[in-house]
Amino acid sequence: MYAPNKSDVLEEAKHRWLGIYEKLAPELVEAQRKPGKAFPCPVHGGLDGFRVFRKTAGTTGGGVCQTCGFKPDGLALLTWVRNWRFHEALQEVGTLLGVKDPEGRDSIAGKTRQVVPRQVKQENKQPSNEWLRETMRKVWKGSVPLTHPSAEPARLYLRSRGILAWDRPGLEATVRFHPALSAKVEKGRADFPAIVAIISDTEGAAVVLHRIFLTAKGEKAPLESSKMMFPIPSDRSVVGGGIRTSQPGEVVDVCEGLETALAIETAMGLPVWPLVNAYYLENFCPPPAVKAVRIWADLDSKGRGQEAAKNLKQRLWAMGIKARIMLPNMPIPTGAKGVDWNDVLLGRGPMGFLGDDAYRAMR
Ligand SMILES: [Zn+2]
Repeated sequence: MYAPNKSDVLEEAKHRWLGIYEKLAPELVEAQRKPGKAFPCPVHGGLDGFRVFRKTAGTTGGGVCQTCGFKPDGLALLTWVRNWRFHEALQEVGTLLGVKDPEGRDSIAGKTRQVVPRQVKQENKQPSNEWLRETMRKVWKGSVPLTHPSAEPARLYLRSRGILAWDRPGLEATVRFHPALSAKVEKGRADFPAIVAIISDTEGAAVVLHRIFLTAKGEKAPLESSKMMFPIPSDRSVVGGGIRTSQPGEVVDVCEGLETALAIETAMGLPVWPLVNAYYLENFCPPPAVKAVRIWADLDSKGRGQEAAKNLKQRLWAMGIKARIMLPNMPIPTGAKGVDWNDVLLGRGPMGFLGDDAYRAMR
């Protein structure tokens, strides 16, 4: 009986999982085309529980369903989706690719090898760390302070959100403007004006740039995603860090978004560190001298912002650091994803920050 070795099959399957799934498990094809992206689970359904691993999409394959669990490689995925025994998955993939077994056989009796192309373009291949660092260095070198005459698109954008704190001296050390940053559009690439900001690690060392792509008129750029981090060099991490818009003192103010941070600064005169998203906020690690952290949370209709803030608060208290959460005292409009402190500034002006917890916290 045809019995190829697992390692031989996996070797031959490199960069071929898409073609293999097309032949053996079409329900995995969409997810394999976009590794890392959430899809309905091919076995139990749902909306977004399943994804193919981004890092190994071009090598050993594999994926995870939040309900069904980890499938460490493409063979495990096939075994699970097709309800095969493991040796059946080995035989099917081995036959498809013409992998010889230790006895010299190359297929299940009666079945023949088929053409399974290697993907020329590797899925989501991350550029080298050297390339990333050099690219980000060039972007930063080509940027100017938000006060520079050419930074008008950034000022228009921020002003449209009620933000006036863009001219605070020192901000240019971490938040700047770039006149023409390249971004992926439907067909190829195009240049957009952008706000760029340095995301640092827990030690305060610069790791990666965050970008908010704009139009010349100061609107959000018409892109699939107008806010994007560069890929993080694989030898570094920003978990625990954030955008240090000011020198750390004994009290640090943090929030999720850059606009939220500058909105709070506009209303309260306090520099706030944007930690970019709920995950980074939840995992924030303050510098050693910090004794207290004020968490300016987003009020999300799904609760993620509040949950991240609560988790951070508990972690900080456990570390002996005081923490308190400031939630926008404002109802979430019907249909909206939530409200943040920028919405408070826009809806109620700086007065919206007075008379509630936020104000009392300042006393
Ligand atoms: Zn599942």
